[in-house]
Amino acid sequence: MHISKTDQINILVIDDETDMSEFVADAVTAIGHNAVAVSDADDFVRAYSTAFDVIILDLFMPKLDGIEIIRFLHENRSHASLVLMSGKDKSILHSASELASERNMEVLGVLEKPFTIDQLEAILDKFIPHAHRQKAPPSDIPTEQGLRRGIADHEFFLVYQPQFDLNTGMISGVEALLRWQHPVRGLIHPGLFIPLAEQSGLINNLTEYVLEEAMSQMARWRDHDITMSINVSPTTVVDLDMPEKLDEMIKARDIAPEKIIIELTETAIMENVGSYMDILTRLRMKNFGLSIDDFGIGYSSMQQLVRVPFNELKIDQSFIRQAVTDRECQAVTQMSMSLAHGLNMRVVAEGIENQETYDWLKSMGCEIGQGFHMARPTSPVEIEERFLS
Ligand code: C2E
Ligand code: MG
Ligand code: MG
Repeated sequence: MHISKTDQINILVIDDETDMSEFVADAVTAIGHNAVAVSDADDFVRAYSTAFDVIILDLFMPKLDGIEIIRFLHENRSHASLVLMSGKDKSILHSASELASERNMEVLGVLEKPFTIDQLEAILDKFIPHAHRQKAPPSDIPTEQGLRRGIADHEFFLVYQPQFDLNTGMISGVEALLRWQHPVRGLIHPGLFIPLAEQSGLINNLTEYVLEEAMSQMARWRDHDITMSINVSPTTVVDLDMPEKLDEMIKARDIAPEKIIIELTETAIMENVGSYMDILTRLRMKNFGLSIDDFGIGYSSMQQLVRVPFNELKIDQSFIRQAVTDRECQAVTQMSMSLAHGLNMRVVAEGIENQETYDWLKSMGCEIGQGFHMARPTSPVEIEERFLS
């Protein structure tokens, strides 16, 4: 077949078996496209450019991590579409596709080895050059109107990410995380709509839903020894009669207050300590847990931190993810832990992505861990099947 110059696609092939990457590159060239083949991480980083339209990636590479490559592509603003290859291990395919689409990367298709040139060609045929694509909706960011409609149409739901006692390895709690299942755009993560909800005041409707849903879930998990962490926006803390309202909710459901942990971000609180003090103190007096979220990226002074009655500190994931590889991140993590322990707070490390980080945090005396290495946010059913049975 003949492909005109303008329809040629630039393709990067990554497979740590040189034979395989060269075979695929030859096949791509035979079809009429341009291919570069690499088989190790250094070559990949060197060869990488945003000029590639398609990246064909083997996920199961003993020495090279396909998942990290996807992350790298995202961080380097790649617009390339992905073709995922897999050998034996198909379970990873699912999480990789999910990861890619979470990061707005298109997955053209999946090739199971061994595959034929025809199969490869059929997948590459699906590629539409960016210049030919229909213009995306004016903006990827949802609008206030859309948010209002989504709330009215009940498109929001909660997922739960487990937290673990690092010493015993047992589940110790879950964090409720909001998701928006948009009928056209698909799954939308909170980073995209929470700020809008806060600006427009719609956050109160969302928080109401989250509290209601999380508390009802907790009532069903009443007999399990786990806590429920709930993120609350600062605007809600001021607007609602929070402590009383929460108190009524747990009493109606027969839940112990210490099993509910309210998370507030460091930045939010420190901008306005005075106005929150009253409410936060009353929450603690009623025995609710109070957690300072994303610690380390805000600018709290020691004095402010001591004044607010937190009993848990969550170190921001940007530090945890690099805690064993980056000296600065390690220093911030260690300092945050000793500060928290000195103030009688327990520490939650968020963003544990590998065993080394887990082991190091455990050895440093960190109590609780949360991260993709142990579990991603998931449905209540899966929480029950995997962790509560
Ligand atoms: P957060 O409270 O710090 O939540 C933790 C975020 O880190 C979650 O993202 C979780 O999926 C992610 N995460 C956990 N472990 C790992 C890991 O090992 N690696 C990586 N790369 N990420 C990890 P998510 O669900 O997208 O939530 C983002 C933020 O949105 C939350 O940050 C929270 O500030 C806000 N949010 C989520 N749900 C609610 C809600 O119901 N109400 C309010 N006000 N804010 C919410
Ligand atoms: Mg949180
Ligand atoms: Mg956090």
